[in-house]
Amino acid sequence: MIKFFFGLLFSFVIAGSYAQEKSQKIALVVHGGAGMIKKENMSDKQEKAYQDKINEALKAGYRVLERGGSSIDAVTAAILVMENSPLFNAGKGAVFTYAETNEMDASIMDGETLAAGAVAGVTNIKNPILAALAVKDHSAHVMMAGKGAEKFAQEQGLEIVDPSYFKDENKLNQLRRIKEKEKTELDHSGQQGYRETDPVFHDRKFGTVGAVAVDRKGNLAAGTSTGGMTNKKYGRVGDAPIIGAGTYAENASCGVSATGHGEIFMRAVVAYDIAALMKYKNLSVQEAAEEVVMKKLVQLKGEGGVIAMDKYGNIAMPFNSAGMYRGYIKEGEQPVVLMYK
Ligand code: ASP
Repeated sequence: MIKFFFGLLFSFVIAGSYAQEKSQKIALVVHGGAGMIKKENMSDKQEKAYQDKINEALKAGYRVLERGGSSIDAVTAAILVMENSPLFNAGKGAVFTYAETNEMDASIMDGETLAAGAVAGVTNIKNPILAALAVKDHSAHVMMAGKGAEKFAQEQGLEIVDPSYFKDENKLNQLRRIKEKEKTELDHSGQQGYRETDPVFHDRKFGTVGAVAVDRKGNLAAGTSTGGMTNKKYGRVGDAPIIGAGTYAENASCGVSATGHGEIFMRAVVAYDIAALMKYKNLSVQEAAEEVVMKKLVQLKGEGGVIAMDKYGNIAMPFNSAGMYRGYIKEGEQPVVLMYK
């Protein structure tokens, strides 16, 4: 009898926790960068290529969640698809520095434990997001940079490539055009370096990639990967690998991945600010993300946008530039992919 009673109790507990797991809906949101993304500048073929890749990234991440995988693994899977595509400014498609090299930044954060990992200024790691993940999981640190990060990635058995792997003719030509324009402008103005008011600055596309996911257990994760900004100076690091600026995840508030003018995003502490508005001011994810992207960043002239999601799968994707490659998939719904305003 006693055995029967405990057996019954056990099955209730199992059924109960299963029901709880079942009721937690999974969701994934990704971005492929913000900037001058306008319908009139895009051929049908280009538009389709971006749509297909974003769909592929969504599917790769969602598959992980469907199988009961973690949000960290889903974010990684989605970002890997975009890092391996030349379409985005991350991994294979990373933009060029002034010195015609590619220096990449990436970070990832677990919303359950607040564990985080990041790499900055890496030049030969095929998938910087995997290096960020390795820093989180296999080191005592949060961020590793340059040669040290590369050595660590190699020791971790990650794929190391010749830097020429990242050399994309289109992106190199883009850099040379910008340098040329800048030279003429500087000849006129006699100033050094680019100013944020320069038209060349606004020609730029911020093709950074990022993802935020919530898994069956209700755990959030966020990740971001980028080649930074075209024509950046040697050693420049943007917001993408900075926890709290370009990336943040915390179950109690939200997961965020940003894309835009990193210098301003760092000064505005964009990702954490959104989480803080939710926590301390009880704003919804939509309200908090809008406040930071459409008010604070606009005031600071910080062009770009974010994707953000809370643990219930509520998604916000505000941007203050012409467009932002973005998409999401929620349980029981068709994926949605968008680019323009
Ligand atoms: N935020 C990135 C950076 O400043 C650029 C981007 O989003 O494309 O490095």
